[in-house]
Amino acid sequence: MNEFQERKVKLKWHEPKKNYDVIIIGGGGHGLAAAYYLATRHGITNVAVIERKYIGGGNSGRNTTIIRADYGIPEAMAFYKRSVDLYYQLEQETDRWMMFKPKGMLRLMHSEANMQSAIKRAHTNTVFGSPTDILSAAEVSKMVPEIDMTGGGKYPVVGGFLHHAGATARHDRVNWGLAEGANKHGVHIHQRTAVTDLIMSADGSKINGVRTDKGDMYADQVLCAVGGHVTSIGNMAGLRLPIRTHPLQAFVTNHYERKFEPIVASLLLHFYISQTARGEMLMGAHVDRQPAYNYRAGYDFIQHCAHHAMTILPFLRKMRVLRQWTGLCDMSPDASPVMGLTPVEGLHITTGWGTWGFKAIPASGESVAETIATGKQAELIKPFGLDRFAKDRTMGDLGSTGTH
Ligand SMILES: Cc1cc2nc3c(=O)[nH]c(=O)nc-3n(C[C@H](O)[C@H](O)[C@H](O)COP(=O)(O)OP(=O)(O)OC[C@H]3O[C@@H](n4cnc5c(N)ncnc54)[C@H](O)[C@@H]3O)c2cc1C
Repeated sequence: MNEFQERKVKLKWHEPKKNYDVIIIGGGGHGLAAAYYLATRHGITNVAVIERKYIGGGNSGRNTTIIRADYGIPEAMAFYKRSVDLYYQLEQETDRWMMFKPKGMLRLMHSEANMQSAIKRAHTNTVFGSPTDILSAAEVSKMVPEIDMTGGGKYPVVGGFLHHAGATARHDRVNWGLAEGANKHGVHIHQRTAVTDLIMSADGSKINGVRTDKGDMYADQVLCAVGGHVTSIGNMAGLRLPIRTHPLQAFVTNHYERKFEPIVASLLLHFYISQTARGEMLMGAHVDRQPAYNYRAGYDFIQHCAHHAMTILPFLRKMRVLRQWTGLCDMSPDASPVMGLTPVEGLHITTGWGTWGFKAIPASGESVAETIATGKQAELIKPFGLDRFAKDRTMGDLGSTGTH
């Protein structure tokens, strides 16, 4: 957050209370959005958000900020469409400028097989209310003249898939806007407070509160929204979650003097790129293959991702890498999120956000808040419940990742 924005955001800090109606573990986008929607949509304000570092200090402040709804399965399309719609109104609703910018998302196709699957996906997205067009090679070249349409002579670009609602927003402003919005309604936010254990009923079937390094706090409803650390909190409740944690890296270059408008991704070379408000070129790709909890950023990643990006966008060869960083992604086996009720009474989760959770912040917050307020899994997230794994109703969707 810059100083200008920091001065505008007004947050009040409170002493921790012994009892809350709802405790949210994790002050990332998902935890803060759940608090915001609990307060604004359901009038539930006796809520604490417990964050062991600082607001947005996890993945919600480390991502590449891409927002889109062009997913691979109908249930996901409906969910992410709702999220994009909420993003479109979030600045006005919170009265905070989040630098939300519609840009369009252009995926490049390199083969007839790519084209065929993209046509199917474009039609389904359009039917679900997110207009997506198929572009010819000539239209792609006109839209982004920087693209080498021969793909370095090896990966020719044969067409594109333009998802009009694709956008970006400034991540820290989203976090702080939601925090301030929740806080205004009376939600307590406790930074630098770590949850060290869960307080369970004697038989372990119900949650009663949390143990923190600042003392115990009690609530009948607890939401676990801890990004890549969900399996540790799940273990405290005796809950084995189908989640593996993988690092994900990204980097930015120095300023590119021309405007580079759409977000561009290659379906074959598996990288994506967009331009930040400062003109830097921001790039990302896959998660690291090996599960890990480390935040180390490595040369291998830059080499691999930059090589692919430069093959398609030769102007990048003259740019310099300024910064590189890493976050931790909670990956589910079907590449779809896991939200809502758990077998432990009163314990809710929002996880499995992998590399695609920034765009989901408003819809997940809204639906999880509804689930907590009503005690029933909200309609929009019914397909994404934890019980789907036991019922063999997994929601396989590689469209979740920006590069597929
Ligand atoms: C490099 C990178 C690029 C990405 N790009 C995109 C993108 O372009 N678009 C997109 O949609 N998504 C993207 N993502 C994914 C997205 O950032 C995440 O899915 C999303 O931010 C997850 O939000 P969260 O609130 O669940 O978790 P986080 O933001 O990680 O928040 C969890 C919080 O819980 C806190 N916590 C953990 N354990 C405890 C504890 N015991 N007690 C108290 N607090 C605790 C952590 O400190 C953290 O602040 C990217 C991720 C990375 C790493």
